[in-house]
Amino acid sequence: MLEEYLASIEGGKYGVCFSSGMATVDSCLKLLDGGDHVICSDDVYGGVSRHFNRILSKYDLHFSYVDSTDPENVKAAIRPETKMLWIETPTNPLLKVTDLEAMADIAREHNLYFGIDSTFATPVFLRPLEYGADMVVHSTTKYISGHNQLIGGVVVTNREDIYEEMQFVQKTIGAVPSPFDCWLTMLGAKTLHLRMPRHSENAQIVAEFLESHPKVAKVTYPGLPSHPQHETAKSQMDGFSGMLCFELEGGIPAGKTVMNSVRLCALAESLGAVETMITHPATMTHADVPAEERHARGLTDGLVRLSVGIEDAEDIVDDLKMGLEKV
Ligand SMILES: *Cc1c(COP(=O)(O)O)cnc(C)c1O
Repeated sequence: MLEEYLASIEGGKYGVCFSSGMATVDSCLKLLDGGDHVICSDDVYGGVSRHFNRILSKYDLHFSYVDSTDPENVKAAIRPETKMLWIETPTNPLLKVTDLEAMADIAREHNLYFGIDSTFATPVFLRPLEYGADMVVHSTTKYISGHNQLIGGVVVTNREDIYEEMQFVQKTIGAVPSPFDCWLTMLGAKTLHLRMPRHSENAQIVAEFLESHPKVAKVTYPGLPSHPQHETAKSQMDGFSGMLCFELEGGIPAGKTVMNSVRLCALAESLGAVETMITHPATMTHADVPAEERHARGLTDGLVRLSVGIEDAEDIVDDLKMGLEKV
């Protein structure tokens, strides 16, 4: 039931559910053979690049990470053995937005599997199958279940050959979700269309507040005209979702002060639930990445990621105001 439900809200024919978002990504990569090459967005979810680099590369799969916001970078990375294009949009945590029409053209021309991790956008705001994606993946741990209650994932496709392979992988490797988790996911998914517009409205209000705050150097939110891919986001998405990040002037100490001063925002590494969650990548999600590499990727010491919840927007703004006063 859940597979059919999630396929239908994504506008696709087939859905296959897994025990986590990561098990879903791993299963999609099992469409490939040893020697194949994958082009991947450079700011993908950290667990995905870790999986590609530390596990799949041992099985003779090869990966190139490119800034997919410029299609020329993707074209330049194509090799004879390239078999898959793996795009995340918007990305985690820098909210880069990739033009899916341009990616679909490249995938078609070079006969590549075209997979999209659409966890941040959800089917409410983006339906990548309409743009020619072969596979749309969600970590249902996040917005789709929406209440920090479980871990799960889904892949939706219109291609029967991919569907059959995904079903085969699902039962063969045993990365199946439990019936109870499926039931909980279904409960969450039934309010997705009500939650997402609220996440998006709140994030817009919070982003505008932060952009006007003197202690904030920069705010990145696809709904702000200052976002480098704002126009692409506006044309391919029906809303900008609830994720944003901002840059504090004072580096690690300022980040820590804000983390320790907020009261409503929960200090947490997950995202996409009804509660607002705040993360300091330099000391939390990316603490094990050497500072130089972190900085090169744009994950600066003062960067704060916010998963804006569905509380009263004024309460979220007041909480951040209080946290920023302590800096
Ligand atoms: C969380 C996340 C994943 C991994 O999902 P899990 O359900 O935690 O395994 C993959 N992609 C994105 C964009 C995510 O946010």
